[in-house]
Amino acid sequence: MIRYLKASFVIAPLFFFAACFNDQKSDIKSHKKYNIDEVLTQENVVPVVIIGSGPAGLSAALYVSRAGMKSFVFAGPTPCGQLTQTTYIENWPGRERVLGTTLMDDIKNQAISFGATIIHDTVTKINVNSWPFAIQTEEGRSFKALAIILATGATPKVLNIPGEREYWGKGVTTCAICDAPFFKDREVVISGGGDSAAEMVFELAPYVKKVTMLVRKDHMKAAVAMQERVLKYPNAFVEYHKEIKAIYGDESGVTAIDLYDNENNTTKRIPTDGVFLAIGHTPNSAVIKGQVPLDDHGYIKMDGRSQESLVPGIFAAGEIQDPEYRQAIVAAGEGVKAALDATSFLYAHGFNVEIGHKLDQQFFESFSDEKIELQELLKNEELYEHVLHAKGLVVLDFYGTACPACVKMIPILESISHKMQGKIKIYKVRYDNDIKEYRTIFKELWKKHDIQVKRVPALLVFKDGKFLEMNYNIMSRKELYEYLQKFM
Ligand code: NDP
Repeated sequence: MIRYLKASFVIAPLFFFAACFNDQKSDIKSHKKYNIDEVLTQENVVPVVIIGSGPAGLSAALYVSRAGMKSFVFAGPTPCGQLTQTTYIENWPGRERVLGTTLMDDIKNQAISFGATIIHDTVTKINVNSWPFAIQTEEGRSFKALAIILATGATPKVLNIPGEREYWGKGVTTCAICDAPFFKDREVVISGGGDSAAEMVFELAPYVKKVTMLVRKDHMKAAVAMQERVLKYPNAFVEYHKEIKAIYGDESGVTAIDLYDNENNTTKRIPTDGVFLAIGHTPNSAVIKGQVPLDDHGYIKMDGRSQESLVPGIFAAGEIQDPEYRQAIVAAGEGVKAALDATSFLYAHGFNVEIGHKLDQQFFESFSDEKIELQELLKNEELYEHVLHAKGLVVLDFYGTACPACVKMIPILESISHKMQGKIKIYKVRYDNDIKEYRTIFKELWKKHDIQVKRVPALLVFKDGKFLEMNYNIMSRKELYEYLQKFM
């Protein structure tokens, strides 16, 4: 069933027709009652909830909002998705060359301008056994949705080998763009032979002494154009039939790997300073597991050519249901399809503008996402005034402008800044390579407190002018709140 018809009287025969051809779907359908009159007796019901804020989620939000329906987008743990973890995008139609973060900001702002609400929280539980569907979030919000669009994307895979966890963030990473500057003049390896691995070479080669791609087959999976670009870097090398079997290190980080040659069946220990992983992705379907049928790899099973899952009212777009194409522009197109399918589903079940208004009036759950924009500390005097001579709790967020993890943390810090207003002050400090050399503000900090920021983002906590702790972890809003509470 590709699109719902807008008149409810056609639903019953349609369901019967679909049931004849799709037993799995009809089984699921028979357990649920889609009754819009009953919905009107309930509180905290939103027409459409979109889970995930990458190209799929935000494109869906744009279309749902333009259809005049209220929608909430849950930004999740990676606000604006995987494109914020890359540099330039050259294959987005109409944009010859655009930064991933810029493109996503543009799509987000366009969705907001038409009325989408972006919420910096993560959905932790969905129950599809009754309608409207019940939803809970990490921050304890609970409410209901008439339709859900799942756009949670995928997460980079890891090797699960000895040393990988131990040296995670200390030389083992999946984000070259975040960490490349920290490997200046060092030797690193990349595991993987796809486009992501090739892209890592482009990020790393300008910084490192040597970067070696370790490909497990006798050929790369990356596009030919990408392979050619890799080989143009004089300090980039490719080795075939190679797999990493273990990672070693010391207190300074990674120092060596065990490298297995699957052609000769030999293993050698070789020195290296960093291990970058680019071995594909796993769909982020944990939140919907057991609720919606998934395939053997965890991708959501879809109903024919539509963006509807096998549970009516639950739609999906992007990498959560696409193990094949995995392109941002495809995800965006699927987001649009999911929005059209979801709005058709709602109209087919009796939703209209009047019902939308009634649901709005009965919505009491707090979704305020207020923020305080962080003030940037630029001068030494500001460091003294706002940090070293200040009373109370002060947090400095050292960030880099091209660091995706930093981009992710800033809205979380802004939101916490609002939530803990009067109890804590949070400032940001730009720590890009071009400025950190000459800013005496950093030297003052190092001299007085003997601390060095080795990577970004880094949070430095001060109380009454005294340095307490540095933290490199990427935290959710809840985790950050709990972390800061302990200094109160
Ligand atoms: P891919 O699945 O395309 O490639 C994964 C690579 O990792 C393959 O070479 C695979 O080897 C290897 N691999 C998988 N598991 C292991 C393992 N356990 N040990 C060693 N090697 C392993 O993933 P990508 O993330 O590279 O790309 C995903 C999608 O995103 C693709 O569609 C790609 O085109 C797209 N993309 C596009 C970019 C662009 O256009 N600029 C940039 C980045 C990604 P094998 O071949 O043997 O399976």
